Amino acid sequence: MPRFGEGCYDSQDLYEVEPHGRYLNSTDTESRPLPKIIPRSEHPISRANISNNALKVLYRLKNAGYSAFIVGGGVRDLLLGRHPKDFDVVTDARPEEVDALFRNCRLIGRRFRLAHVRFGRDIVEVATFRAAGAAGDDDDRLHDESGRILRDNVYGTIDEDVWRRDFTINALYYNIADFTLWDYVSGLEDIKSRTLRLIGDPETRYREDPVRMLRAVRLAAKLEFTIAPEAAEPIPRLAPLLADVPPARLFDEVLKLFHAGHAVRSLELLREYGLFQYLFPRTEEAFRGEDGAAALEFVRMGLANTDQRIQEDKPVTPTFLYAVLLWPVIRAEAKALEAERYAPVLAITEAAHRVVTEQQRHTTLPRRFASPMKEMLAMQPRFENRRGPRAQRLLEHKRFRAAYDFLVLRSRCGEVDPEIAEFWTRVQEMTPEEQREAFGGSKQRRSARRRRGRRRAAAAGTFDAA
Ligand code: ATP
Ligand code: MG
Repeated sequence: MPRFGEGCYDSQDLYEVEPHGRYLNSTDTESRPLPKIIPRSEHPISRANISNNALKVLYRLKNAGYSAFIVGGGVRDLLLGRHPKDFDVVTDARPEEVDALFRNCRLIGRRFRLAHVRFGRDIVEVATFRAAGAAGDDDDRLHDESGRILRDNVYGTIDEDVWRRDFTINALYYNIADFTLWDYVSGLEDIKSRTLRLIGDPETRYREDPVRMLRAVRLAAKLEFTIAPEAAEPIPRLAPLLADVPPARLFDEVLKLFHAGHAVRSLELLREYGLFQYLFPRTEEAFRGEDGAAALEFVRMGLANTDQRIQEDKPVTPTFLYAVLLWPVIRAEAKALEAERYAPVLAITEAAHRVVTEQQRHTTLPRRFASPMKEMLAMQPRFENRRGPRAQRLLEHKRFRAAYDFLVLRSRCGEVDPEIAEFWTRVQEMTPEEQREAFGGSKQRRSARRRRGRRRAAAAGTFDAA
């Protein structure tokens, strides 16, 4: 017989792992909650609004004899008349069974396996119903390492799956078999009253997974919902728990907060609930410091710009986002380095390096974004020079566009002479001939000037490119 904790799983133990919600012992059918089942005629979700790929997955599962539902953001957003980002499918089929049904399927995750069914660039995620012992989320980085959660005990039934979800509005299930909507937790009422309410005891749920506090704020910002008082109350108190969340997971959350078209509102709410200081501690410090109002205004304008770009369907990148969020800190640090006689470009490069390295301990920034970010910031002082081929070559720099956008932002905040930003706006529209002129005239005149300049510099004993 295996010893306790070694290959066996005591159901009592499961209750200890997951002391939240209403506990369901799967053998105890008596205490199983029943969902409110809303027929198709009484809810607005139409297959016309569900992606074809998600429908294909749902039907294939159903035709193979499994149950198949859409749950989470997809259902919620359809009920709100919004366009869902994606559709998450849940089923009673085990991951291996899902895998066997689709040629274009890949299983991901170690402890909690998920199936990804791929259609070109689109991926439909299929999860097997999970029991409460599988708390947390789809992210196996998060889960407790004690090894007590064994794979065999992870899967469950729909009426177990519901309790591990975060908010009532995220726990509505759309059944492909008869197009009904299953509601175990009065999620529909909360959709109607636009309320974010946690399933179970809020403090317990936040302690299980502190990222839920960020999700509360994110969904409140995105949907313009109110966080229910009992769900809002513990957040400022429990915010320090974010310090224990892996920085890579927080990076993902940061993108969801700031790259979804509601960045300005996200920042406001994050600060209101005392969460922002655990994501970007130095930036929060800058907001509270001497030039705090200016720092906040800069970040707000940068985020408004990001929101605007999303509205216009333009691409956004973490490179620019982190540049905006960290700039007040980097700028101050660069100033201090300049006082130690660093040249401006070097000062920014070094400051950016130090600040990003420190930031990585809180929310990561993968190197493919960190390097261009540093380059883009280091270009800022170089824009101040508007004469000569060196200046002109900035136009061809691979970070020109992002660096220029950043310059415009700085000039709008009164950090740079607007004339400089206007110059760089104008030259981009010029013909090559006009550009040569703008950067100091024709080749001959320029070299003549350079010679004169050199002579003068030599006479003065200095060589000043400006
Ligand atoms: P979005 O529209 O941003 O995708 P979403 O609610 O669908 O929002 P996902 O991260 O896609 O968010 O998660 C899908 C569903 O999984 C959620 O609706 C919720 O039911 C559940 N879920 C996700 N993360 C958690 C978590 N940390 N704790 C509990 N349940 C979660
Ligand atoms: Mg989703």
